[in-house]
Amino acid sequence: MIYVQKSQTIPVSLANYKSYDAQDVIEQLNVDFHGKCYICEQNESITTYNVEHFVPHRGDASLQYDWKNLFLSCGHCNSVKTARKFDDILNCSDSTHEVEKAIRHYCNPFPKEFAIFEVKISSIKANNTKDLLDKTFNGEHTGFKKIESANLRALLLKEINKFTDAIEGFQEEADEKEYYKSKIIQHLKSNSAFTAFKRWIIRDNLMLMSDFGQYL
Ligand SMILES: [Zn+2]
Repeated sequence: MIYVQKSQTIPVSLANYKSYDAQDVIEQLNVDFHGKCYICEQNESITTYNVEHFVPHRGDASLQYDWKNLFLSCGHCNSVKTARKFDDILNCSDSTHEVEKAIRHYCNPFPKEFAIFEVKISSIKANNTKDLLDKTFNGEHTGFKKIESANLRALLLKEINKFTDAIEGFQEEADEKEYYKSKIIQHLKSNSAFTAFKRWIIRDNLMLMSDFGQYL
């Protein structure tokens, strides 16, 4: 989970409490969230986008049509988040919550590994966010959710391997250093998949921090 800067301009459909999932709302969310689910940060296999109410509205129109309360999530994460404790998590669109620094994201780059989340800045919200991420990526759910979590980890592994290949190229291939450097920088951008995991690979390594810390 990374910080997402939401547009200051409120989509017109929300103004009259007309619709919270009209085309203008969806398009603005898609731009602001870089086409990614804000929880799992996948961007290639989302077939079901959800306009998610960050704080469940439970019939309260002021929450239902509040632009600040609308997020983009995938079907998998949206359904995992329905548990009550996940009403109180870090808000990725609030820079003061420092979501990315608060939770270390890590995954060993091998098949069948689970994703690891560690609270670095402790709070109830951070603990709940960690539990949400853990359940999203590693949850031993029943039925389709279990398959979805495994699929998500397979996508994560694929992306982490691409990123670590680029790092290896940067460190080993003296002639193509600049080529690999630009690939790494692309991976660290907010519109890349699973950016929080990639940025933590950099944070966890002093040498990489000196070369790429400025791109986090
Ligand atoms: Zn998701």
